[in-house]
Amino acid sequence: MTVSHDPTSSGGAPAGTRPAVTRFAPSPTGLLHLGHAHAALFAAACASERGGRFLLRIEDIDTGRCRPAYETAILEDLAWLGLRWEGPVRRQTAHLAEHRAALDRLAAAGLLYPCFCTRKEIQAEIAASPSAPHGPDGPLYPGTCRALDPAARADRLAAGDPHALRLDMAAARARLGGPLPWYDAAAGWQQARPELFGDVVLARKDVPTSYHLAVTLDDAAQEITLVTRGEDLFPATHVHRLLQALLDLPVPQWHHHGLLTDETGRRLAKRDDARSLRSLRAAGADPAAVRARAGFPDA
Ligand code: GLU
Repeated sequence: MTVSHDPTSSGGAPAGTRPAVTRFAPSPTGLLHLGHAHAALFAAACASERGGRFLLRIEDIDTGRCRPAYETAILEDLAWLGLRWEGPVRRQTAHLAEHRAALDRLAAAGLLYPCFCTRKEIQAEIAASPSAPHGPDGPLYPGTCRALDPAARADRLAAGDPHALRLDMAAARARLGGPLPWYDAAAGWQQARPELFGDVVLARKDVPTSYHLAVTLDDAAQEITLVTRGEDLFPATHVHRLLQALLDLPVPQWHHHGLLTDETGRRLAKRDDARSLRSLRAAGADPAAVRARAGFPDA
């Protein structure tokens, strides 16, 4: 098991003058594994090093994939690992009205548009355009519904056609104009480049919110001052920084940490049952030994 950089290093961050409020924010779509243990211990260690608070949030907006049994297992496994968090645990689906209010605000500013496209239609359009630009999550949305004739759009809305809500990225960028700096404790100062993602979805067809919107609003609501998470989510922070600016939210610091990998260098995933905290526990593992395997021998 290896960690791609020192999990406890402060990475040259400016000395924190106020206690850090951190969180661990798992999605209950499977059992926690050693990689999650690393992320949770990392967040807890950052809070305790800076005399702060460590909170927990259940990111359960993906109702098709989330299961109450996994949520129960998360709380049990984290407690078994020796973690203690400040209550109450925030569940994202309990706050959809706040997410709606933020969407209404962005819509009133003319920054959202309904997108009726199916995944298949988007793929076909991208396939037809050989120079389709790509972002960190793959090809960018080609903007089909942004260009929809207003009367056709109104008709489809009136007919109740299922739709997502997308951010008009060019309009959002134009509205803010200047640079949007953000600070990562490991990587230093960054300039937000949300345009890398194109017109991101802020409310899905099946769920009236999205990862980008929910995580940004909930971090603000929980008054998180240091967002810690895996470096796989580093690019997403460009979008979160933009949303903070559009919605007048406080800007935290971030610390994207390395991901645990297996012996072959592959990052751990929920499908790796053998490394789930559940199976380690069932096999009689000692929590201190598991903390050490997750990169925190002294936690
Ligand atoms: N819920 C996300 C996950 O389980 C983490 C989100 C975040 O930390 O920003 O991958």
